[in-house]
Amino acid sequence: MRLVTYALDGHTYAGALLDETVVDLSDAGDVLRILSDPTARDRANSLFQVRTRVLPLRNVRLLAPIQPRAIIGIGLNYRDHVRETGATVPSAPIVFAKFPNAIAGPGETITWRAEVARQVDYEAELGVVIGKPCRNVHPEHALEYVGGYTCVNDLSARDLQFADGGKQWVLGKTLDGFCPVGPAITTTDEIPDPQGLDIRCLLNGEVVQCSNTREMIFDVRTLIAHLSRYMTLMPGDLIATGTPAGVGMGRVPPRWLQDGDLCTVQIERIGALTNIMRVEHP
Ligand code: ZN
Repeated sequence: MRLVTYALDGHTYAGALLDETVVDLSDAGDVLRILSDPTARDRANSLFQVRTRVLPLRNVRLLAPIQPRAIIGIGLNYRDHVRETGATVPSAPIVFAKFPNAIAGPGETITWRAEVARQVDYEAELGVVIGKPCRNVHPEHALEYVGGYTCVNDLSARDLQFADGGKQWVLGKTLDGFCPVGPAITTTDEIPDPQGLDIRCLLNGEVVQCSNTREMIFDVRTLIAHLSRYMTLMPGDLIATGTPAGVGMGRVPPRWLQDGDLCTVQIERIGALTNIMRVEHP
């Protein structure tokens, strides 16, 4: 299933995408519940088969499929991206944080003030949503703890991220709305192996990033095992697994997001996450 959270008449519901419709799954609980509770998952599966309540996609508004407790970013996880940034290939995953204020839904307008950030960049990434508590797990078993996969745009204000000689990653990563996520979370039965997915970023329709998740330096199972050595991962936690080459900062001259830009992250078997960029001038 491709799980979504949708809004209708001031309420939010869980659903699953089916062509141009949403099958309502709200009797099974919210998306977090469906991902983390096997009984709720079974209920959702049967609701999806029965299709009692089916709504045209155009009649609802999709929201971020989940509101994560923790958003864990991984830096420099594709070789070609490491090259374009002039960095060296890391010996262990580079871990940083984004906070829940950064979560935004599909179609949402992302607004920042020009006086705060002028060098805002896109980063298409595979998002891993944890499905059950996970602590000190072996890589071989790590994928058993995944609830599903989604698209993430790890928006990054480079002028903040690299202030003071590169010591400011977090501030540049977690402005309000700087973590668009969605449109859906595809469950693991539909993506048994997360390392063969085509991933692209389109800026106003032009392809600016084009890669495949098999190009990751540290694959999803290694990332989960690594993180779970140090912290207990909880259901709904989101891991943004790093971006391939083609970001604005790697271009000559650099290409920063502009007011009115339409930015889309597209991943095979998940869907397309599009957001509009808005720069406020005082
Ligand atoms: Zn990133």
